[in-house]
Amino acid sequence: MLKKNIIIIVSILIISSFLYVIFTNKEDEVKIDNNINNSVNNIVNNKNEYIYQENLLDLNYTIDEIKLIESKIKDEDVRTKLLEKKYDNLSKFLSSPYFNLNNIERYENYYQKNQNYTSDEVVMNVEIGLDKDFYTDINEITDYKDVTTLVNKYNKLPDDVNFDDLVTIDKSYSNGGNKQLRKVAYDALVQMINAAKNDNIKLFVVSAYRTKKTQESLFNNSVKKNGVNHALLYSAKSGHSEHQLGLAVDLNSVSDSFENTKEAKWLKDNAYKYGFILRYPKNKEYITGYGYEPWHYRYLGVDISTKIYQENITYEEYVVKYKK
Ligand SMILES: [Zn+2]
Repeated sequence: MLKKNIIIIVSILIISSFLYVIFTNKEDEVKIDNNINNSVNNIVNNKNEYIYQENLLDLNYTIDEIKLIESKIKDEDVRTKLLEKKYDNLSKFLSSPYFNLNNIERYENYYQKNQNYTSDEVVMNVEIGLDKDFYTDINEITDYKDVTTLVNKYNKLPDDVNFDDLVTIDKSYSNGGNKQLRKVAYDALVQMINAAKNDNIKLFVVSAYRTKKTQESLFNNSVKKNGVNHALLYSAKSGHSEHQLGLAVDLNSVSDSFENTKEAKWLKDNAYKYGFILRYPKNKEYITGYGYEPWHYRYLGVDISTKIYQENITYEEYVVKYKK
């Protein structure tokens, strides 16, 4: 009797689906086939079970984990990316707001090697790219004129950049020579240096925009002078320096001793108000790839700089949190 009813219902479904296609001519056949299959499944099982529950149970996910997967991952993604094998820490990673299913394998591998990190940190670090060595898996930047462009050891400027808004820094704001910056950064810099002056703090630029060639020789000289490890920690390979963006400056003194000066302290506390961030902070070397550089400031505009200052994060973290 039940079987007979099912056959009747299924027949009605098939016929009505058929008519639907004829009259609307909108749905493709595959979708209708799926609808019919789902309808049949529902009738036979007589319950509204999550479509991948059985598959996920077979992979040894718990009911709670399956509920989480159902609520957070689209069916299509579950079907194409999660039915092959079990990811032991998937539910932990899923709680991170920066979770990206495409990187689940990388999260698992990184977590295996870094068990001291929380699952949130694992997701953040992998999204930054830290599971890969610096200067590997390099992405060539296309929108290099954008003021918010991220340049680091994973993101390289093209060889043929061409800025039409470089201006010469007035000598009263530098230690001399022909130094340039993009106009938007220069205007903000002038404001900052003038404000510092009002607080009896003297700031001046010792390094600003660099061409690819200048950066290349600076890096090579640093290798010769200090060895490759030191050079990698304090100097950028050509194409990977923010100085090539025309939005970064080194101020007063490129020396560790600058850290304890009142000028360095003023910058740390006030630069964000003018749109600059301390780009390579202390204890964030594992993220930025650079040692602490109390003299290096990057222009990003007041809004982004303020957020970075308030949250005490690096620009890499900012990009994952707010730009991705
Ligand atoms: Zn610098």
